[in-house]
Amino acid sequence: MQIEISTRYLDKDSIARFDKVKSKTENCYLEALRSSPINFLESEYLPRIYVIPFVRKVILPDRWIFVFNEVLPDPLEEKYKAFFPSLPFLEVIEPKFVIANFAHELAHVIDFAVKPNRIEELWKKHKGNARLVHEELEQKISEEYYGRFKEPAKTWLYELDEESNKNRVLNQINESGAEVREFRGIYAFGQFLKSPETFTKEI
Ligand SMILES: [Zn+2]
Repeated sequence: MQIEISTRYLDKDSIARFDKVKSKTENCYLEALRSSPINFLESEYLPRIYVIPFVRKVILPDRWIFVFNEVLPDPLEEKYKAFFPSLPFLEVIEPKFVIANFAHELAHVIDFAVKPNRIEELWKKHKGNARLVHEELEQKISEEYYGRFKEPAKTWLYELDEESNKNRVLNQINESGAEVREFRGIYAFGQFLKSPETFTKEI
């Protein structure tokens, strides 16, 4: 399988910016794929990459979270998963953490296949509290999959989860002057993907 990167959500200026980090993105994704416990390179579908021009700030009832990448249904083939990394993240962050981030998203894809009901169960357990669902999901991904990745990505996965490194990444993004768009609730970004032209922040 070949790595496929879509720029359908980027305008002309963003495409020119992305061109400068295209090979970095491909190399980091390839490195994450090589480190994965599941051989995606020989599977029937390799998650496609859709680059997003801005960083997402997701507003939940009791806190907000920054999202630099995410696993969602592929807009072109909904039965498959795809990745939606932010352009500023790909531009600003050092390769080892971009690799770790793709490896983390691959762990989510594996989890979706192994435990398709996980989110529904967490949703019931935490009575629809999105923050608790998100926190427990992230904890399970780390506990159940990080250890199965190959080095050096394995070490970088744990490193990226350290609070000090997460803050460092966030500061680097903030200092770069990246565009940040707010999304209210965890599903709003899916609506943006369906209709980027008509999407407003006021959902
Ligand atoms: Zn995650």
